[in-house]
Order: sequence, then C-alpha cells, then structure tokens
Amino acid sequence: MLIETQSSESGDQIASQLENRGTRFHRVNEYIVVAGKVELPPGDFIVRDIRAPYPLVSRELKPEGSVVEAAGVRFGRGSFPVIAGPCSVEGEEQILRSAEAVAKAGGQMLRGGAFKPRTSPYDFQGLGEEGLQLLAKAREETGLPIVTEVLAEGDVCMVAAYADLLQVGARNMQNYALLKALGKAGRPVLLKRGLSATLKEFLMAAEYIAAHGNPDILLCERGIRTFEQHTRNTCDIAAIPALQEMTHLPVVLDPSHATGRRSLITPLARAAVAIGADGLLVEMHPEPAKAWSDGEQSLDCAEFAELMVQLKPYVELRQSFILKA
Ligand code: PEP
Ligand code: MN
Repeated sequence: MLIETQSSESGDQIASQLENRGTRFHRVNEYIVVAGKVELPPGDFIVRDIRAPYPLVSRELKPEGSVVEAAGVRFGRGSFPVIAGPCSVEGEEQILRSAEAVAKAGGQMLRGGAFKPRTSPYDFQGLGEEGLQLLAKAREETGLPIVTEVLAEGDVCMVAAYADLLQVGARNMQNYALLKALGKAGRPVLLKRGLSATLKEFLMAAEYIAAHGNPDILLCERGIRTFEQHTRNTCDIAAIPALQEMTHLPVVLDPSHATGRRSLITPLARAAVAIGADGLLVEMHPEPAKAWSDGEQSLDCAEFAELMVQLKPYVELRQSFILKA
C-alpha cells in the first residue's frame, strides 16, 4: 500500500500512528510505503492501492509517465535524446574529438567511462578521476552534459561532482549499497539492466534508488545473456514497451552493448524509435580500431553522423503521431 501525504505534517502524523501500532513502513519524500494494508482515520493524504512490489516506480503511480531531466536534457513523454561517446575516456584528444563529433551530429549528451567494470582485472580499468576531469573539459568546450559510470558506493560523491547523469552498469544493477547511495546522490541515474535480470528484478533495483530518495531514474535496456553467440548479448527489444506498461520511468536502448556489433547499431536504433523508446545510448569513437575497450561495437564519427541523419525521419514521424494523439 502506498500513502501519498499532502504535507509534511500529515506525513509525521501518519508515521507516528503507524509507529504506535508497530506497523513496518518506509517513508520517502511525500510517500509512505506500507507492506500490506492498514486502516487509517481520515486525514490529509491519498491511499493508493498499488499491487506492484515496486510502487514508487510503477506505472499505476503516474499513468502519464515521468520526465527525467539531466542538465536540461529531457527524457520521457515523446522526446528522443541521443547519448553518445566512447566506452572509455582514454585521453584529452580522444574525448574532445568524440564530444565535438557528438555535438556536431546533434547528439544531446556525451558518455564516457572513467571507472570501467571489466571482465578481466588485467584489462584497462579507466582513468579514474582524471577521466572525470577530461569529461568536464569536454562539457565546457561543447556544452554537452556528461554521463559516466559510478562503480562503487564510495565513489558516488566524487563522480556526482562531475557528472550530470550517473550510470549504474549492468554488473552493478543489484549492488544494493550502491543503489541506496544513489538515492542520496542529488543527480539523476541511468540504470542499466543486469545481464540476466528479469524485468521485475530491474524495476526492483530502480525501486531501491527511488525508495532512498531519488525519483529521477532512466532505465536502459542493454541486452541480456542468452544461448545466442553471434551477438554479444540478445537485444530484448520487447522489454521497452513491456517496461513502459509496468513503470512510469523513461526507457532508453543501448544497441552497442546489446549486440556487440557496429553493423547492428543503426537498425536497432531505428527500431528503438519505432517501438517507442525514450532515447538512445550509443558508443562512438574517433578511431574505433584503436579503442581501449569496446571498439568493435563503436561507430566512428562519420558513422555516428550518418546514424543521426537516418534517425531523423523516424523521430519526426513519431513526433507527428504524438502531436495528433
Ligand atoms: C558501458 O556502458 O560501457 C558498460 C560497461 O555497459 P554495461 O554495464 O551495460 O555492460
Ligand atoms: Mn562499453
């Protein structure tokens, strides 16, 4: 059961009533989440009978859908922002060239990992804070807000000081200490789906962030592990409309990690627009052959510009449908 309080005084009142009865509850912003049902005397609140185990992010709470804003870029309710940039920040020239190419082609945000979750401990682990400084410099030069991954709970404050949107990687989707810390980070979060996470588990992870105080969450479908070996992961394109039925949070697609193949990025990006995704996250690199990570799934600058050109009529067609509706 979800109680929506209309003032902090009514919240305090309900909380003390629940406490007196020994009822377990969780208070977050204007909401009080109670396991099970309770009878309350009339007061300045609305009781919402939400069945989903993830009430704060459930579609029922906000049937109109929510908009997540990161430094002026708005995701949700029909917009289609594109986040692009290299897998890893490798150095000043590389990130500045990437940022310029993203801005020139009409991308809305720059991505780049400074803390990298690598399968092998011997692979490049990212430049750390130096990488964050380079991202900030790229933002200064191009005006593009930045998205970067935070790998550990202890890094949240540092990464939040630089980033406009904090990425939680697939491998960390169920790192509950990290999710809780992100509830208090004061920055919107881009939560990637775990490699073998069900949609319910994905939404429960988002609920952790919301339950700890942060409602600004953008979900990212990035492919899941299946028996298929041709692609790095299997792009669960159906997850996008399925999630949109289940949650009010916007959902973006990452066709780079979903396929591991450069040639499949553009067709899937078109599909993302057509299926109603709320945006895109794509890896691009000025010289993909020389990339320190994920080069084979990165577009070069010209290919990224071509992707944006190809997406334009799809986005416009979709917008014309939304305007008519
Ligand atoms: C990334 O975005 O570079 C990344 C590591 O993604 P994921 O967590 O989805 O594998
Ligand atoms: Mn990557």
